[in-house]
Amino acid sequence: MSQTLQAVRGMNDILPDEAETWEQFEESIRDWLKAYGYRPIRMPLVEPTPLFKRAIGEVTDIVEKEMYSFEDALNGEHLTLRPEGTASCVRAAIQHKMLHAGPQRLYYYGPMYRHERPQKGRYRQFHQIGVEALGFAGPDIDAELILMCARLWDDLGLEDVRLELNSLGSSEERAAHRSALIAYLEGHKEQLDEDGQRRLYTNPLRILDTKNPNLQALVEAAPKLIDYLGEESLAHFESVQQVLRDAGLPFRINPRLVRGLDYYNRTVFEWVTDRLGAQGTICAGGRYDGLVEQLGGKPAPAAGFAMGVERILALWQESGGVAEGHVPDAYVVHQGDAAARAAFRVAEGLRAHGFSVLLHCGGGSFKSQMKKADASGAPVALVIGEDEAAAGEVSFKPMRGGDQRRIGMDDLASELAELLFAADGDDGGV
Ligand code: ATP
Ligand code: MG
Repeated sequence: MSQTLQAVRGMNDILPDEAETWEQFEESIRDWLKAYGYRPIRMPLVEPTPLFKRAIGEVTDIVEKEMYSFEDALNGEHLTLRPEGTASCVRAAIQHKMLHAGPQRLYYYGPMYRHERPQKGRYRQFHQIGVEALGFAGPDIDAELILMCARLWDDLGLEDVRLELNSLGSSEERAAHRSALIAYLEGHKEQLDEDGQRRLYTNPLRILDTKNPNLQALVEAAPKLIDYLGEESLAHFESVQQVLRDAGLPFRINPRLVRGLDYYNRTVFEWVTDRLGAQGTICAGGRYDGLVEQLGGKPAPAAGFAMGVERILALWQESGGVAEGHVPDAYVVHQGDAAARAAFRVAEGLRAHGFSVLLHCGGGSFKSQMKKADASGAPVALVIGEDEAAAGEVSFKPMRGGDQRRIGMDDLASELAELLFAADGDDGGV
């Protein structure tokens, strides 16, 4: 016998029980995004490799070691499974001249790919909701992006999520900080790990983002970017904070928050929880004013964030949010050829009225079919035997109390609506 095949390590099947929770989450997400006027955009999962090198930065974890890159066997093109969405979204906006029509509020949702060590909350295929506001320069949009996250946590009832905030300033301010940082790190060169040694001159800011516990003290005492910010950057940062204070949203300024992607400037933020162990960042983002120009577009400011869907769902489940499985409105039981044909007509007729109907397939005795009807949770079984089929009727059998009765097929929809309405009233509505 041949060996059974398994999914690729770090890439998960999402089975029906869980997928129903995903769908319920996706529904709330759509309403939430609409409430803020963000519009959907869908980009390909595969992009030219140079897009990510240019956008995310050559000397970052993602580009150095996490990308699924390959050569197209047919034409030799260098391609990559997208590790994130901002680069693709900006590429699409430039390619389709979307900013000619003014600023754009956009969102996307889908799988991302990073070759990381799989563990709880960290996968090789994971999902992000990305929100990008292109063409907006002011601190108001930074604040809107942050406040809208807070609203989603509230909608979902997520607990223990806190906001960390920092400003990365302008590229000139970062350059001044960079010189000071290099001088400081040179003084402690022997303490740096391999990544640190390599990045000392290429991307020292990344060293501040290290997860190596041995480097934490060194990094803690390093020159802080926030001390190098000029007046304009500070004023921008202050305005963002003012809106958050006005909204009563608590935050903590974390001078070590630098983000793992090179395109950020000014405001950066992360939403973090202690409830998920080591993988506690559920959402991260900030301003990236240089990216549109860097990818070949007419210069335009921008800001956005991405949230990790697996981590948010884990926290949602922690906080008691689990979707109820789908329950059909009716289960159709039938026996005999004429009844089988009538059953199809009945089921389709009800679906045309908007009901969800499970039609028994695969035969079996009435008794075994009734067991299935019961297990489906449907409030009513519609039973069709030879008699009913000949009379153009259905036996209407409420599953949770109530009399069984014969009903003409034409009256079925209104009868079912009445039963469901009454049931809704009993549990105070759905
Ligand atoms: P981390 O520090 O956890 O590696 P990151 O800085 O690489 O995160 P971003 O690129 O900012 O993450 O992505 C935004 C969000 O996407 C993260 O905050 C996290 O919730 C989620 N995310 C990132 N990588 C993964 C992954 N491999 N598996 C699951 N979720 C992820
Ligand atoms: Mg990462």
